[in-house]
Amino acid sequence: MKLNEDVEIIKNIGPARANHLRRLGIYTVGDLIEHFPREYEDRSIITPIAQMEEGGIYTICGICGNIKTSGFRQRIVTRMMVKDDTGEAELIWFNQPYLKDAFIKGEEYYFTGRAEPKNKYPVILSPDYEKKREHQLNSARIVPIYPLTYKITQKLLRGLIRDAIDYAFSDIEEYFPEEILSSYVLMDRREAIENIHFPSDEKMFFSARRRLAFDELFTLQLSLMLMKGKIKRSRSDVSIKNTDTSEFILPFELTSAQKRVMEEIKKDLEGPCAMYRLIQGDVGSGKTAVATLSCYMAINNGYQAVLMAPTEVLAAQHFNSINALFSKLGIETVLLSGSLKKREKEETLLKIENNQAQMIIGTHALIQERVNYHSLGLVITDEQHRFGVKQRSALARKGKAPHVLVMSATPIPRSLALVLYGDMDVSVIDELPPGRKSVETFGVDSRYRERVYCLIKKEIERGRQAYIVCPAIEEGETLDIKSVITYAEEIKKRYLPEFSIELIHGKLKPSQKETIMDGFLKGEIDVLVATTVIEVGVNVPNATFMLIENAERFGLSQLHQLRGRVGRGSDKSYCVLISDSKSKITAQRIKAMTKTNDGFEIAELDLKLRGPGDFFGIRQHGLPELKIADIYKDKEILTEARKAALWAYDNYDKYKGLKRRIEILMPGNIDI
Ligand code: ADP
Ligand code: MG
Repeated sequence: MKLNEDVEIIKNIGPARANHLRRLGIYTVGDLIEHFPREYEDRSIITPIAQMEEGGIYTICGICGNIKTSGFRQRIVTRMMVKDDTGEAELIWFNQPYLKDAFIKGEEYYFTGRAEPKNKYPVILSPDYEKKREHQLNSARIVPIYPLTYKITQKLLRGLIRDAIDYAFSDIEEYFPEEILSSYVLMDRREAIENIHFPSDEKMFFSARRRLAFDELFTLQLSLMLMKGKIKRSRSDVSIKNTDTSEFILPFELTSAQKRVMEEIKKDLEGPCAMYRLIQGDVGSGKTAVATLSCYMAINNGYQAVLMAPTEVLAAQHFNSINALFSKLGIETVLLSGSLKKREKEETLLKIENNQAQMIIGTHALIQERVNYHSLGLVITDEQHRFGVKQRSALARKGKAPHVLVMSATPIPRSLALVLYGDMDVSVIDELPPGRKSVETFGVDSRYRERVYCLIKKEIERGRQAYIVCPAIEEGETLDIKSVITYAEEIKKRYLPEFSIELIHGKLKPSQKETIMDGFLKGEIDVLVATTVIEVGVNVPNATFMLIENAERFGLSQLHQLRGRVGRGSDKSYCVLISDSKSKITAQRIKAMTKTNDGFEIAELDLKLRGPGDFFGIRQHGLPELKIADIYKDKEILTEARKAALWAYDNYDKYKGLKRRIEILMPGNIDI
C-alpha cells in the first residue's frame, strides 16, 4: 500500500524534511494526503494590472521585465517590472536575494499580493509568485492554506501534497458501499481528497468537504455503536403491558416536560423491543421522579427494577426517598451498598435472588458477578456520565434484554448527544419544577472570603444550610485530605464557631458518609465542607448557600453540577465562586456561571471553551479526533451520517472495506 509508505518516497523529501514534517504528525504518504487545509484563499480571479486599487489583494498575470537588486546585508531590495495588456506594475521584495535568479525574463508568471500606494506604477510588496503552466498550485485557483511548521512553507507543502496525491491516487480506497454513496449523494473518496486540497471550483470544494466530514462523523458514530455492542433494539422478553400509575402517588404533580418523557418511556416499555433511552435533564429537573415511576411500572408487571448510582451518598439518598414511597405500596426496596455488613449483604443478595425485593438500589456493587437477579425488567443508571460504556452494558446483560434507561445531569447539546450516545433514543426534560428561583451567582477573589463567611452566617441564622466545596482530588490520585481537614477546622474555630460543621470526602467509610449526609439532610449540620463527592445528585432543599473554593480547578459543567445542589427549595439561593486565577478561560467560565443557570447553555459554552475533543467522551473513548467536521456547524451531516452508521451497523459484516477502515482507525479499541 503506497499510503503506508514513508513520506521520504515522495520527491523533494529527504531525511531532514521528513523530520520537519513529523512535527505536523506526518509520517506516511497517507498522513501527508490527510493533512487537510485549515482554510483557502480564492485566487481564481485574475485582475488586469490597470484595475488594481490601493489596499486590495489581487492576483495578476504578467510578463517579467528587468530585475534589479540593491542594498546589502539586512537591507537587500529586489525590484522587478511586470506588464500585461493593460499596464505595468512594480514588484518589490525585501531580503530575498535569491529571487534575482528566480524569474525568466519574458515569461508569464502569476503574482498575488496587496496593492500598495502607487509610485510611478502600481506596486505590490512581497507578492507570492508562480510560473504560468498547465496546472497551477499557488495561483489562478482556489488555493489551500495549511497548518505549517518550522521550515515548511505553504508553497512547499502544496507541492509535496500534490505529488503525494499523484503518487498514491490509485491506492485511495472508496470504502463506502454503493448504497451509502448514492443514498447520501456523496462524492467519490478520491475525488474528494483531490478537491479538498485543490478544488476545481467552489461547488466541488463543498461536495468534497461534505464527503470527508461525513466520513469522520460516520466513522465516529459507527465505532461507538460497535463499542456499545448490540444492546440496541434487541427484542425483549420483558412484557410491560400495564403502565397505569394511578395508584401511585407522588408528592407533587409532574411538570409537562416530565409528563412528556413519561409518555416516551411508556411507549418504549409497551413495545416489543428493549428500551434504550437517555434522559437528559438539567440538575434539579426531577429525573428521579421519572425513574421512580418507570420502576413502579416494571414492578407492577412482576419484574424487578434496578437503579444504579455512581456514589454511595447518592445511592443512599435514592433509597431513602424511593423506599418511603414504595413501602406504602408493599414494594420491598433494598440498598446494596459497600457499607453493609457481611451478613446483611448476604441477606440482601438472597432477597434479590428469590424475588423478595423488587426495587434494588446501589452502586457498582450491582454489576458484580455475585448478584443474581430473579426477573430483571428495568435497569436505570443515574448520572450516567460517571459510568463507562462497559459498566452500563454489563448491567444490562444481567437480564434477558431488560429495558434500559440512563439519566444524565450533564446536559449536552443534542447534536453531541447523538454522537456520544449514538444508538440511544434521547428524551429531554427541559423544564424545572414550578417555583424554582435561579441561583444568584458571584465570582470573587480570596480577599472577599471573610465577607462570604459572614453571608453564610446570616443564612444559617435564618435557618438555612450551606455547602463549602474544596477541590481535593477524588478517586485514584493522591487525595490532599490534609489541607481540606485543616481548612474545615479553621472555619470551625475562627469564622463560624457557634455552628455545627462537618467535613465529608471520598476517603471516609461509606457508613461515615451516610451518617454525615443524614445529619445534613435532617438539619443537624449547618455547614457541610465537602470535596466533589457531593457533585452529583445530592438533594437537600434547605441548603441555600454554596461557596466554591479554587473555582478555577473545576470545569464549567462541573461547576454547574455543584451549584445544582442549591436552589432546590422555594427559597432564594446563592453561589459564590472564589478564585485568584488570572487565566482568561477561568474568567470566562466564572462569567458564564454568573450569567446563566441553564445547563444546556453552559454545556454548549463548555464545549466551545474546551473543544469537542476534550469534552468528556471523544478522546477518552479512544476515538479519532475530527479534522474536518465540526459538531456545531455540521449538524445536518451529523444526522445523515448517523442514519448511514445505523444502517452500516446492521450490515457491518457484509462490507469488508468498511470493516477494514474502522479497524485501522481504532485499533484495539473496539471490543465486539
Ligand atoms: P435531578 O433531575 O437533578 O435528579 P431530582 O430528581 O433530585 O432532580 O429533583 C429535584 C427536586 O425537585 C427534588 O426535591 C424533587 O422532589 C423535586 N421535584 C421533582 N419533580 C417535581 C415536580 N414536578 N414538582 C415539584 N417538585 C419536584
Ligand atoms: Mg438526580
